[in-house]
Parts: sequence; C-alpha cells; structure tokens
Amino acid sequence: APAFDAERIRADFPILDQQVNGHPLVYLDNAATTQKPEAVIQAIVDYYRHDNSNVHRGAHALAERATEKFENARSKVAAFINAAESRQVIWTKGTTEGLNLVAATWGRTNLKPGDRVLVSGMEHHSNIVPWQMVAAEKGATVEAIPVDATGTIDMDAYAAMLDERVKMVSCGHVSNAFGTINPIQDIIRLAHEAGALCMIDGAQGISHWAVDVQALDCDFYVFSAHKLFGPTGLGVLYGKVELLECMPPYQGGGEMIESVSFAGTTYNQLPYKFEAGTPDIAGVIALGAAVDYVNSYDRVAAAAHEQALLAYAEDKARATPGLKLVGTAANKTAVMSFLLEGAHPHDVGMLLDQQGVAVRTGNHCAQPIMDQYGIPGTVRASFSIYNTFADVDRLFEALTKVRQFL
Ligand code: PMP
Repeated sequence: APAFDAERIRADFPILDQQVNGHPLVYLDNAATTQKPEAVIQAIVDYYRHDNSNVHRGAHALAERATEKFENARSKVAAFINAAESRQVIWTKGTTEGLNLVAATWGRTNLKPGDRVLVSGMEHHSNIVPWQMVAAEKGATVEAIPVDATGTIDMDAYAAMLDERVKMVSCGHVSNAFGTINPIQDIIRLAHEAGALCMIDGAQGISHWAVDVQALDCDFYVFSAHKLFGPTGLGVLYGKVELLECMPPYQGGGEMIESVSFAGTTYNQLPYKFEAGTPDIAGVIALGAAVDYVNSYDRVAAAAHEQALLAYAEDKARATPGLKLVGTAANKTAVMSFLLEGAHPHDVGMLLDQQGVAVRTGNHCAQPIMDQYGIPGTVRASFSIYNTFADVDRLFEALTKVRQFL
C-alpha cells in the first residue's frame, strides 16, 4: 500500500497555508482543536447560502431540505460510531455538555447518598466537575482511580475500588494531557461486572480510529465535533436506548415536548427529548461533511502516520538536553507533553509562537494530575493527519532557539 500522503491531506486544510510571526505556521495544537478541511467550511457556506431554515417545523421547501440534511448527518454519525439506531445520537454543544447532560439527568435520578462515581485521576475537568456537582446534591462521592507516574491507569487499583456502591465509572478514552490510550474495553467490562454503568469521554479518541460503541458496550460515549475536523460548539452524546428513555429531559423548551399545557406537559421521543431549542443546524451538517471527509482516507494508515510522527518527535526529545517528557505510557496517541528544565511552560509556548510553532501550554484542564506530579503544567505538542516530519523538525529547531534564549 502507498504510504500515507500527509502533504496531500494538508492541501485540504486552507488555514495551514499562512505565515505566523514571519514564519510558515506549524500547527501542533490538535488536541485542543483540529483544523477544518475545505469540505467542512464549504458545507457551512452552502447551508447558509442555499438551505438556511428552521428544522422539523416548516411547511416549505427550505425547511424540508434543512431537516433532511440535518437528519442525514445524524444517520452518518450513528453509522460512524456504529450506533444501532440514529435516535441514540443526541446533539449537544460538545463533550462538556454531553457529560453535564448525563450527570444532571441520569445522575440526579439515580444517585443516592453513599453512592460512588469513579473517574480516572487524569480526567479533563469536564469529566470531574459535573459529577462533583450532582454528587454534592445527592450525597454521593466522586473518587479518582489512581494513575501512575507514566500517566497510566492502575487497573488493579481500579478493580479493587469497585463495589456495589459504585454506580457510574466515567473515563476518558484518551488523556488530553498526555495522550495515554486507556484500556476502556476492560474498564467498561469491569464496571459492568460490578453492576455500574460506564461513560466514555471520547473527545480525544474519536479522531484517531474507528469507534464502535456496540463492540465497546459502553453505556454513554461523548465527543466534540471540533476535534474531528468539524465545527466548534457542537458535540454528540451516544447512549443506550433503555437508559436514554428513562432519563428526564435536560432543558425545557421547543422541540423537546410532545404536548404542552398548564395541566401538564409531555415530552418528545428520542432524540428530540434532549434537544430543546433551535439546534446548530449548519454545524450538524458540517459535522456530516467532516465524517465524510474522515471516511475518505485510510484511517489505519493515518493513525500509523501519527504514530510515526510521535516516535520521531520522542526520539528527538530524548536527545534534547534538559527536556523531560511527561506522560510516557506504553499506549499513546500522538501527543508529546514535556517540560524544559528551568523554563516555565508558558514562556516556552510564547517563544515557540514567535517562531510560528503553535502548541498548548498549561494544565490542559487536568489540574489534579498536574498537582499529583508537582508541576504547573506542560508544553503539549499534539499531531494530526496533516502534520509532517518537517513540522517535527521545525518544532525542535525552534526549541533549540528557546533553549539558547532561556
Ligand atoms: N474531555 C477531553 C478529554 C478533552 O480533551 C476536551 C477538550 N479539551 C473536553 C473533554 C472538552 O471538550 P469541549 O470543550 O469541546 O466540550
């Protein structure tokens, strides 16, 4: 098979072709958000130019067209994650809202005093705080599954924590701080054996390989469109039908009702029960275009390309004096988190930006694990399908200058 052609892929992303601070842009902040291919940008433009209308209510051609494209995107996403039915795909504002929705509706209905919710010790804040909020209300506890010095979940400790009071295990598919790929198949199975549900935060997993929610047997899976080459402010909540059916609505308003009266209101069917108000129609259609885009290249070859970039970068990192890799799990996506001796991550990030290299610095919304490691945060370079070996070279040339400067 021909090698994965990152240069050709790169040409699909117009934003990458620009100068930043006098240098060609090297975009290595893909774990924060991925860039958008022309097809996704065009889907947004086309929608507003030709089809803009409200969905599900109009009695006219534009409304029909918008509704058809909107629901067609739902079917595409359902197929993309192998959901059994498209009504299991609920549109949200993003991973954050998906987690909040389940914590607020499932959590508020099912958690009782003394119940336990487990999350890993390296979760994103959005998979910690919503559980803390509902736990405080219900007298439940949120506990961290231990994570070791390499950024790997301690599975023995996890198994030992499980008992009949654990009602929910909510865990990231991939750590955004380090790229650790968690053994979610085992995490889900063990949760179920203990009688708990299992929710997966797929924000960092969805863009790298095919996700099959039925094979995983997860109860909920959430992700954001913007980390999958789609638009910001849109996400997906997948859930098992029997769970979604039993959950109360999240927000009240139009679309989510069946009938409203002052004597009592009844709610719409799935998925509309959870979709109050006019949705991000253009965003949904653009996510459909993003899914088509992802389906248009060889995902296995793309993942291999990302792994090759990571291996190349980590080899260079190990040969760089004063550079310390943070998060060295055996199984990782193409995320390189690191520190430079004697330099604050923010200063490193700023000096890289001056040379046209975009990275993220800080605690990556994962403060508990940074506290555990006794560090303020890291510099994070995260690679995607359009990054090249030349990008890695540029990062390390820039880091050499940073080291000379500091
Ligand atoms: N979880 C993880 C693992 C993430 O990486 C992110 C985004 N940084 C989120 C949740 C939150 O996603 P969003 O801001 O799109 O809701």
